Amino acid sequence: WKHAPGHMRALVESSLEHGDTAALVYGEERVTHAEFYRHTAALARRLVDDYGVAKGDRVAIAMRNYPEWVVAYFAATSIGAIAVPLNSWWSGPELEFGLSDSGATVLVADRERIERLGEALERLELSLIGVRTEELPDGARSWGAVLGEPGADARLPEADLDPDEPCTLFYTSGTTGRPKAAVGSHRNLCTNIVSGSYSRFRSLMRLGLEMEEVQAYVDALGPSVVLCVLPLFHATGAQTVMLPTLANGGTLVLMYKWAPEEAMRLIERERVSAITAVPSMISQMTSSPRLGDYDLSSLMVLASGGAPAAPALVSRTRRSMHEMLLGQGYGLTECSATATTNGGSDYLLKPDSAGVPVATVDIRIVDAAEQELPPGEIGEVWIRGPGVVHGYWRRPEATAAAFTGGWLRTGDLGRLDEEGFLYIVDRATDMIIRGGENVYCAEVEAAVHEHPAVGEVAVVGIPHEVLGEEVGAVVRLLPGGELTEQELADFLEPRVAGFKIPSRVRITTEDLPRNAAGKLLKKRLKQEYGWSPADQG
Ligand code: ATP
Repeated sequence: WKHAPGHMRALVESSLEHGDTAALVYGEERVTHAEFYRHTAALARRLVDDYGVAKGDRVAIAMRNYPEWVVAYFAATSIGAIAVPLNSWWSGPELEFGLSDSGATVLVADRERIERLGEALERLELSLIGVRTEELPDGARSWGAVLGEPGADARLPEADLDPDEPCTLFYTSGTTGRPKAAVGSHRNLCTNIVSGSYSRFRSLMRLGLEMEEVQAYVDALGPSVVLCVLPLFHATGAQTVMLPTLANGGTLVLMYKWAPEEAMRLIERERVSAITAVPSMISQMTSSPRLGDYDLSSLMVLASGGAPAAPALVSRTRRSMHEMLLGQGYGLTECSATATTNGGSDYLLKPDSAGVPVATVDIRIVDAAEQELPPGEIGEVWIRGPGVVHGYWRRPEATAAAFTGGWLRTGDLGRLDEEGFLYIVDRATDMIIRGGENVYCAEVEAAVHEHPAVGEVAVVGIPHEVLGEEVGAVVRLLPGGELTEQELADFLEPRVAGFKIPSRVRITTEDLPRNAAGKLLKKRLKQEYGWSPADQG
């Protein structure tokens, strides 16, 4: 794997082989693979000729999941520049932070992001390319013409690329603090494409199929049509969903934003074959009253990732949707997305596991003294492999703290079983210590999820004078669901030890706060309920 192939430019060039197949679908717009190549080549040329973008320069992208996002990403990386996807949910000051932190010289942005940035654009002194808007500040140029009419002979400008050079800065979700940008190289990202395809093969093999049958199954699927329900600026959206789909000559169906019914409409219309989503999205789809109104029979693969998935989700999905390959993946921005996957029959047998490491990843469970722990024992999850990035952008201290001797310290707590399956039990920062006993949120959340009235749950630690912390839970009920605090306690009593049963429970019908990547914002939740250390005096 040290010599894993390629770089982003090779991926764009391979698009020419897939000619008239749709590469990108957005609403009524369709961009074929051949057009995708030409749009990318035309923008790449413009970045070099009009904006003087050179190797290593940062080109920021701030917009919704438009086709232009994909083209801008590949145009920048194909010429050796570094693409910097910014979170489109960020406020003006947050966007400004991302732009100055990365030192971007060009920004490709849509109207809403440009408006949010306002006067900050003058302070930043960068070149702006506006997407889907004619209302632009002085000096900025509109993209319009580029995506409209790429010259038939558009060719990528020459570039001498080394697979180990940086090509992306992906900001981590910021779930645990201020976002840091992981510096991804061409090799890091290409590795993820290879390991993702391999995992799908392995899931099929594990179903007991012979190699030829697996091949026939894959051929029958044809190039996949993948619904991109995740934001592209998040590592899972870009690296687990976008890159493999385009690399395999498939079609990426883009959504402006997540909406369960719109997703089902698109699955039916585009005959979508695969989706990777965060667990809350799958849960919203399977519990939708409109589920039966759509033909979802084209869907072959439904994978969840990016956040803990309760085992109850597997049985619920199997009950409410037709047979398909269900899967779960675990990973981080810092390892270019996927580290472990669990799919097919394995997932049915071990629905609480994040799976086994993909072919390119080694995993270790390590204690506080940095000693490797045997199977069954809980410690910090460390990851090694060619997908692991070399560090954070301009953060030497954070880099030194997270990367050690080729290993990435994930900050996640987990254990391996005898067969090498990984179980993520909590983030180290979320784990609750109640009167000296460790309470892992994922275990309690999974137990609460088993209750049929529960749509979503977050378990958090609340400061407590005597115990240090006590266990709190916020539960969102499914439409029409009913549950009291006492009923929940009675339900949990045979399922988890008494000290893990939440002593403070809030039941709500409101969605729990999540970030753009679909991750629960536990800090915000604790503040909302007055459960933060400051609130406890
Ligand atoms: P920050 O580092 O800024 O706090 P973040 O860690 O949320 O942000 P990401 O890289 O987007 O940034 O998310 C990775 C984290 O998501 C993992 O460390 C893990 O805690 C969680 N995660 C991802 N997949 C799974 C999974 N299948 N099961 C449990 N947790 C998961």
